Amino acid sequence: MSRKIVSIVGGKDATGTVTYASTNPARTGDVVAQVGLADADTFAAACRTAKEAQREWARVPAPVRGRVIASIGRLVEANAERLAHLVTEEIGKPYAEALGEVREIVDTCDFFLGEGRRLYGQTVPSEMPDKNLFTFRNPIGVAAVITAGNFPVAVPSWYLVPALLCGNAVVWKPAEYAAASAHAMFQLFVAAGLPDGVLNVVFADGAETFRGLELALGEGTVQKVGFTGSSEVGRKVGELTGRHLQSACLELGGKNPMVIMPDADLDLAVEGALFSGFGTAGQRCTSLGTVIVHESVHDRFVERFAQAVREAKIGDPEGDVLAGPLLDQKFADRYEEYLAWIQPHHTVVSGNIGRISKDSPRHDFTGDEGLYYHPVVVDGVRPTDRLFLEETFGPIVGVTTFQSLDEAIELANLPGYGLSSSIYTTDPRHAFRFREGISAGMVSVNNSTSGAEAHLPFGGNGKSGNGSRQSGMWVLDQFTRWQAMNWDHSGRLQKAQMDVADITPDMGFRL
Ligand code: NAD
Repeated sequence: MSRKIVSIVGGKDATGTVTYASTNPARTGDVVAQVGLADADTFAAACRTAKEAQREWARVPAPVRGRVIASIGRLVEANAERLAHLVTEEIGKPYAEALGEVREIVDTCDFFLGEGRRLYGQTVPSEMPDKNLFTFRNPIGVAAVITAGNFPVAVPSWYLVPALLCGNAVVWKPAEYAAASAHAMFQLFVAAGLPDGVLNVVFADGAETFRGLELALGEGTVQKVGFTGSSEVGRKVGELTGRHLQSACLELGGKNPMVIMPDADLDLAVEGALFSGFGTAGQRCTSLGTVIVHESVHDRFVERFAQAVREAKIGDPEGDVLAGPLLDQKFADRYEEYLAWIQPHHTVVSGNIGRISKDSPRHDFTGDEGLYYHPVVVDGVRPTDRLFLEETFGPIVGVTTFQSLDEAIELANLPGYGLSSSIYTTDPRHAFRFREGISAGMVSVNNSTSGAEAHLPFGGNGKSGNGSRQSGMWVLDQFTRWQAMNWDHSGRLQKAQMDVADITPDMGFRL
């Protein structure tokens, strides 16, 4: 029997106006949860509730808030297998990866529980005597967090954990197709002792979310927007937020390049390309988009890569597979559109394309009732192709060639995204030149384009985001605002710049 879930605002259920069925993509007939989707007014009401709750939460000393974060980490750890199985059931992510995703929440909590005892401000020297300068990190207020569902629990935790630790309240709007995983994670967070209203979860579709956010920003109840999703929607959310003079943390799509130099370890590169191209069925924001391989090693690389892809196991995500199904019907429909971008000048080197079925099986797997697709490698991609220029969220990787490293860097930057990137080389000069030239927020050397760690800055540039960074200490600047304080204890009005002592140098002095 499937669960019934609704939004939770101020600790109370908020009934939905429409019911959405979140299904298991490995068996589309199975409903994981019936989700009551809320309307814009509920979203705006949640932001008002959060605003009320935030005042008291901000008064809780940061080290005490840190203890709550510690409890969240422990609760997630104690429920890791259950949560990971639910993620696998709801979005089809292979269980080992789902467990890794849950681990990332724990890692994030481990990092931020200590931040509760730091959250450092500074003492700064004044230009005048008997005056002290200080900086403080203040919570921003209410963060409205809207997330995609391909990382239904780890990526939201990158917002929720630091936002709460810093003394903010949160209204979280998860992806509809990952609602059950989000609901479970929400329960774990509140079980750690968060007061009602400090964390609220609202299930809603995109249109109602947008309207609700517009209402809330108009009412002045939201001071930060966190958005993880497509570049297209991110642009709209960023515009809306900017119009209300608030700032958004935009974590968007990617077209992540992998450059393979003639001196690369090709077997290692094949392994990295396979994992980053087709792990999570190519549905990570950091998934590999295009392999840019030196023309002298192109044939050898493509032959080995195509063979590895042909042999890779696709199947039941509870089993030992490289990838399971696509996340949801919406992504399968979109992926079929990307397949139509394959042109006569391309060569598909990986075997069958399209849906895995009885008529188009993969080894002995016929796809059963799920949204399973053959992984596809397209050779001969040109820089003017849509396949080269646009994110193709799903199991498809393009291959193109280059002659010089400068040309490879230019190709890697051409699509205008800038999330992740990778280079395979044994020459440190190539690695550093690539690092300098690439526009991506993240650079891997002899490693795949995927695989963030919870304490390193994560985020993109260009079409991948507005330069905001999540994770580690860098995200603190998203969820706090610096306040500068000066305290003059001289007993007189000392005017900055005007009443400053002047020490006269002898400018004519020469050795
Ligand atoms: P999406 O943009 O369609 O949806 C993301 C979220 O926004 C969902 O919760 C959705 O309901 C909501 N939404 C949709 N329309 C909205 C609107 N008009 N106003 C407000 N909210 C709206 O993204 P998706 O297709 O579900 O997810 C895949 C995309 O997310 C890919 O492009 C992927 O690269 C990206 N992504 C980025 C990161 C990152 O950290 N950079 C991480 C995961 C996914």
